Amino acid sequence: MPQTSKSSGAGAASPASAPDQGEPPPPEGARAQVAAGDGEEGATVDDQGDPEIVKSPSDPKRYRYIELSNGLRALLISDFSGADGEGGNGESAEQEEEQEEEEGGEEDEGDSGEGSEEEEGDRAEEEQDSDFEELEEENPVKKKKSSEKQAAAALCIGVGSFSDPDELPGLAHFLEHMVFMGSEKYPAENGFDAFLKKHGGSDNASTDCERTIFQFDVQRKHFRDALDRWAQFFICPLMIEDAVDREVEAVDSEFQLARPSDSHRKEMLFGSLAKPGHPMSKFCWGNAQTLKHEPREKQINSYERLRDFWRRYYSAQYMTLTVQSKETLDTLEEWVREIFIRVPNNGEPRPDFSHLQQPFDTPAFNKLYRVVPVRKVHALTISWAVPPQGKHYRVKPLHYISWLIGHEGTGSILSLLRKKYEYMLTHTQKCVVHFVFQYLKMLQTLGPQQRIYEEIQKIEANEFHYQEQTDPIEFVENICENMQLFPKQDFLTGDQLMFKYDPQVINAALSLLKPDRANLLLLSPENEGCCLLKEKWFGTCYSVEDIPEEWAERWAGDFELNPELHLPAENKFIATDFTLKTSDCPDTEYPLETVSSYIRFHLISPMIQKSPENLVLFDLFVNILAHNLAEPAYEADVAQLEYKLVAGEHGLMIRLKGFNHKLPLLLHLIVDKLADFSTEPSVFTMFSEQLKKTYFNILIKPDRLGKDIRLQILEHCRWSVIQKYRAVSKGLTVDDLMTFVRGLKAELYAEGLVQGNFTSAVRHTHTDFLTSRYQVYPTCRNTSGVLGFSVTVETQATKFSSEFVEAKIEEFLVSFGECLSGLSDEAFGTQVTALIKLKECEDAHLGEEVDRNWFEVVTQQYVFDRLNKEVTLMLLHLHVTLPTSTHPST
Ligand SMILES: [Zn+2]
Repeated sequence: MPQTSKSSGAGAASPASAPDQGEPPPPEGARAQVAAGDGEEGATVDDQGDPEIVKSPSDPKRYRYIELSNGLRALLISDFSGADGEGGNGESAEQEEEQEEEEGGEEDEGDSGEGSEEEEGDRAEEEQDSDFEELEEENPVKKKKSSEKQAAAALCIGVGSFSDPDELPGLAHFLEHMVFMGSEKYPAENGFDAFLKKHGGSDNASTDCERTIFQFDVQRKHFRDALDRWAQFFICPLMIEDAVDREVEAVDSEFQLARPSDSHRKEMLFGSLAKPGHPMSKFCWGNAQTLKHEPREKQINSYERLRDFWRRYYSAQYMTLTVQSKETLDTLEEWVREIFIRVPNNGEPRPDFSHLQQPFDTPAFNKLYRVVPVRKVHALTISWAVPPQGKHYRVKPLHYISWLIGHEGTGSILSLLRKKYEYMLTHTQKCVVHFVFQYLKMLQTLGPQQRIYEEIQKIEANEFHYQEQTDPIEFVENICENMQLFPKQDFLTGDQLMFKYDPQVINAALSLLKPDRANLLLLSPENEGCCLLKEKWFGTCYSVEDIPEEWAERWAGDFELNPELHLPAENKFIATDFTLKTSDCPDTEYPLETVSSYIRFHLISPMIQKSPENLVLFDLFVNILAHNLAEPAYEADVAQLEYKLVAGEHGLMIRLKGFNHKLPLLLHLIVDKLADFSTEPSVFTMFSEQLKKTYFNILIKPDRLGKDIRLQILEHCRWSVIQKYRAVSKGLTVDDLMTFVRGLKAELYAEGLVQGNFTSAVRHTHTDFLTSRYQVYPTCRNTSGVLGFSVTVETQATKFSSEFVEAKIEEFLVSFGECLSGLSDEAFGTQVTALIKLKECEDAHLGEEVDRNWFEVVTQQYVFDRLNKEVTLMLLHLHVTLPTSTHPST
């Protein structure tokens, strides 16, 4: 679906788990599981939240639902946490804005819907390379935005591209752009964006089939002002003719950007299969052709039609609004009523598509489509059309079914595919389809399983119960859409919780997923040349044929079940004991972190550094161990227990995070797999090849190679990546690996850190400048006891020679030295004060403190109160300017 991507930040992805279209179901009674209500400390008698809205016990925010007399429905969210979110003085606000500007410099990727797919290769590679020795100082990767929360608002209109007039495809999307071009009250064309930019905010919008969502965030002290400016787009947008012509170009370029995306192409191709006249087949993107050139030829006044569409559909009774800020509920209510009461209500009924529920009840569906992809990928999509399931949101039958189909543990489709890997290379498509149908047939034969349903239910409930606070702009975006779909009490839970096991409802959906109702879509570069059809808008080349008779016959009637496919066994990793809950510290700022624990082990062995061969074997060992764990540890993964194995310089690091209760079970599993380590020759070969590629990629990346050489100079004994690359290239065997592993296990020394308490952690910032051409960053380091200050410069080799760069760095060091010696005591004091502030700063994540402590363990320094010591020392320096120290001495 088209999405605007104006400001950096806010990636407007629609929530995947939202139920399908359909009217909000009627409210039901009995609410189980989750604690209801408000009644939090800090709520004054006058500032009541709404006890009917079911929220997570770990959610400190307060909620109130109101309906304005114009029909607009709003959810007010107050997240005042007791601490002053403003940072106290003007100084911090300035810093904040500076930071924003830096961040603004980085371009967003635009709205390609499949960035993740494309980046995957790179990321897997990053994962494998894992140096840990300079945990704190290294890693010039930019940290997330400051933890200081923004205020945010989102508005959802229950109208989307389905309402586009036939002669103006893309009009709803176009209007979503146009309303932002100034209002009667604030006429400047890009005034709102400029305002947000100045105050550290961002905004975005997206148009879906039956809904359009707008959202923004901004620094809290500017929220009232921003809200008023934003609301004018729904009250009195200017939409002047002049701007219309220009903005068509913006919509057109969004379409042009989307064109090379295989997922967008596939979506549009699916749309084209819908029954003739069904809105599903509309071209919702819009482009210059549909919004400008064709209307001109046909003498359609698209400017007038835009205003008509606004008057007809941007009406208060279709709107749901969510606002979140630190103000009291009473204040938020006052603001929302004052501002949004002016949104007009045209009294028209809501657009209704309920008579069009079966778009794919057509012969065009249930075929085999071959498609030529843009990227070199092979992908198979099996689809079934099922009736709208929105009214079953309390049961979520499709979630239950897709959970099982997507399962990765023993007995799953993926598990079988992994085993048949080699066979698969030749029999891909038919074989995969067959496994999926066999699995579904098994599910249909066995019927819905209460035990499995309850496991999923428990996992979702745990996640909701111990949820982490999300970014306000994402949160309000999600909730304002939920308000269109669920009754009031389920605004916060409707898209996540599984409320009720209902085998009949699950069976009804499950029984539809039969081979003879499936549509197959096969993406493959090999289809090139045999696809003579062309999709109208994206130009996707495809062909259509009947499902091959041989396949259809095999699936018809009673095709055999596969004995290797079976239901997942009971998940032993689901936490049920939460006795270490947070209720003892209700007034901390981030109370939810405490249900998570961290376990880390460092298994050190002198074997590893003995030779480059050993280092390579160690890397192979860790990668294969992770591979061996993938299946048995999948259950832990879905139960929100995270684990990671890292090949360090001197040992294996095992990091675990998750609910206390079952975390040790996961550790045992890992240790067992380590103790009984074994591997197949084919797996060994696959990982050897992969590792060779990884080393090679390090060798061709200047920053990685530079680091390797720097460390070689600093450390007594270090094998270079080139040596490792040579070692893996000359060929190692499974026997080599097993011999190495036996030696490793014989000489193992373990250190560990277990942490589950909540204390302050510090955030580290890095000076990092990123431009398209080169990277420059200075860092302070402590490498195996060698203190250092390094300046790293990366440029294109063809632009500057390394001698030239070197000279520039020397020049900088001289001038910086002069700058330092010329620094006044006062200026130096300011710097020290800022650094103290930084080191004293509490952070939102327990994980960062764990990282800090872990650094002490890994480097065997064990100075767990390092920050306090550093702060104390710095305060000593400042004793002249600061009269007394209030900091606890250590
Ligand atoms: Zn757009």
